[in-house]
Amino acid sequence: MTLDTATFEARALPERAELLPGVWRLPLPLKDSPLGHVNTYLVRADDGYLLVDCGWDTADTLKALEGHLRALDIRFGDVRHLVVTHIHPDHYGLAGRLREITTADLSFHRLERLYIESRYANADELLEEMREWLRLNGTPQAELDQLSRGSTGMLSRVQIAYPDTTLDGGEEIPCGRFAFKVIWTPGHSAGHICLYDARHKVLLSGDHVLPRITPSVGLHVRTTGNPLADFLDSLKLIGRFEAELVLPGHGDPFRGLPERTAALIAHHQQRLDEILALLTPGSDQARTAFDIARSMRWSSRRNWDDLGGFERRMAVTETLAHVELLHSRGTVEKHCGEGIVTYYLPLNDG
Ligand SMILES: [Zn+2]
Ligand SMILES: [Zn+2]
Repeated sequence: MTLDTATFEARALPERAELLPGVWRLPLPLKDSPLGHVNTYLVRADDGYLLVDCGWDTADTLKALEGHLRALDIRFGDVRHLVVTHIHPDHYGLAGRLREITTADLSFHRLERLYIESRYANADELLEEMREWLRLNGTPQAELDQLSRGSTGMLSRVQIAYPDTTLDGGEEIPCGRFAFKVIWTPGHSAGHICLYDARHKVLLSGDHVLPRITPSVGLHVRTTGNPLADFLDSLKLIGRFEAELVLPGHGDPFRGLPERTAALIAHHQQRLDEILALLTPGSDQARTAFDIARSMRWSSRRNWDDLGGFERRMAVTETLAHVELLHSRGTVEKHCGEGIVTYYLPLNDG
């Protein structure tokens, strides 16, 4: 998640709620995370229940899910389907355990399937690559360890599970009174999906559109393509859906989808402008992504010095997503020499 508006004080877990007949919000705790909770959505199906997203693999998260189900008189065995919007630990980490204790088949996008091994099985290799790449983007030697190892704590919160069905987008998932269309919304994650039911005008938005915080869009060492360009396109796409109710991965259900997607697009335009203002024409004073990130605002209440290693890395990867978008548009020049990548504005000869 972006650090812009996230609040870091501990918040109470939101209440479980039946939002529509047969659709429940089951908030699960994310201990030590600024997000505080992740929403799992439970939908009554003809043959049992569907869960959308499942929290990460910690005892308290599993216990909370069990408590929600017990209160609704549902057994783990009644959960027949699990759809994961993307494989970030807070949405997918518990999937492996749920495969063991439920009867659920697991579905997610085929691009998320691609990342499972590199992210969660061969993490040491990724760490080495990450370290080298952070160095390439200007991270000082003294901070390399802290930044590259920033998220290793997450590995213990993921039990790998492979999908029974990979999705491409465009499928329809029938589920009781609902028929969810799978919408591929790359950006926050390459294979992120949303689920949309046209009849009830309800959208399960995962981390693509959140009510209060800005989803993190970062360019990482193994990112392919242009994630911020993808994200902005996906926001335009999803903003056209007629959703009366949006059920996000974090925070409260909300209305006003087109207004929210427009606000997110405007936020990124501001960030692009902020970066342009930090760069100068000509390569003399070219800046690395790390250097740009250090000069940017990351929260109304916290500056660079207050950020921990994981947050600093997120700041660098988010900066890279923005500056590479500017580069792809021809607005910013890029130079790689002596093992360092830098960015600057083109010289204006007029
Ligand atoms: Zn996410
Ligand atoms: Zn999330």
